[in-house]
Amino acid sequence: MGIINYTITTLGSHSALQILKGAKDEGFKTAVISTKSRNPLYKSYSNFIDGVLEIDTWQDFPKLEKELLKRNAIIIPHGSFVTYLGMDENKKMKTPYFGNKAVLNWEENRKMQREWMEKAGVKVPHLFKRGDTIDRSVIVKSYGAAGGKGYFTARNQKEFDAKLTSFSEEKFMVQEYVIGVPVYFHFFYSPLTKKVELMSLDKRYETNVDSLGRIPAKNQRGLNIEPSFEVVANIPLAIRESLLPEAISMAERVVEVSKKLISPKGLFGPFCLETIITSTEEIYVIEISARIVAGTNCFINGSPYAYLLYDEPMSTGRRIAREIKNAINLNRLKEVLD
Ligand code: AMP
Repeated sequence: MGIINYTITTLGSHSALQILKGAKDEGFKTAVISTKSRNPLYKSYSNFIDGVLEIDTWQDFPKLEKELLKRNAIIIPHGSFVTYLGMDENKKMKTPYFGNKAVLNWEENRKMQREWMEKAGVKVPHLFKRGDTIDRSVIVKSYGAAGGKGYFTARNQKEFDAKLTSFSEEKFMVQEYVIGVPVYFHFFYSPLTKKVELMSLDKRYETNVDSLGRIPAKNQRGLNIEPSFEVVANIPLAIRESLLPEAISMAERVVEVSKKLISPKGLFGPFCLETIITSTEEIYVIEISARIVAGTNCFINGSPYAYLLYDEPMSTGRRIAREIKNAINLNRLKEVLD
């Protein structure tokens, strides 16, 4: 079957516009699954979105599967998939899905994620066990938290104990708070070429932590503001070139280790290493996202790094469609779908 017979589809949220624009640029038919309030947005992009499939709530997604199979749809997951559909629904989905669903378990479980990073020889912030003495600044993350809500920081044991009494979450992790700057590296691993490509980088604009510095410390005193880390936007970055060798090597090691841990396919497609870089140029990975991240939306028209690899605008969304197109042409589509 030629590529024109397939419809690239995703949920109307997160990076859907980028994904569908990229798919159209690569010659695919496109459709978005959207809830009513978002329909006008997606309909207004009829230049690259061929169909808007409406559902009342995200829970109604399974009702659409027959229609999706009829259209030869290929689903592209993004950061809102597990949040909107839930883990089980994601796994149960029958529509062909770009990526390896087995990675979902490793991504979701913070302990397994840590094991993966450690095996890849990647630095991770120290993790405190129950009963350990808090001997440095820490960040406390609740397990269920989405987007940095419900976190707190503490500078020592005393502050930790005091804040814990008013913390309502039952499951949480206590992680060393790394002093440095956050840098999010967006990569793409192609199982067809077996190469890791650096696509772009961003930093997040998080409320309220990024606003605290706007108020002088003397005015903050007494306000009792606890920093939170909810992402509202993303800012493009170009990084010191001397940091690139280690960052790319880290990504390659993460992919290699994933082939053993999540055998046989491992991690492929887009992923993001979420890092904090210290003043001694150490790169700590605080989290891995095994999918397209919203920071790639800064680069719908390509990034400086994607330009080094492609002589045309190549977003991560378009790179996904290119991989599917190459796989179809090589008769290897099964290798990139789950
Ligand atoms: P996360 O939910 O793990 O992506 O964390 C949300 C935000 O909290 C990040 O974007 C960072 O700004 C900050 N953060 C998380 N973990 C750490 C850490 N160990 N050290 C310093 N900052 C962190």
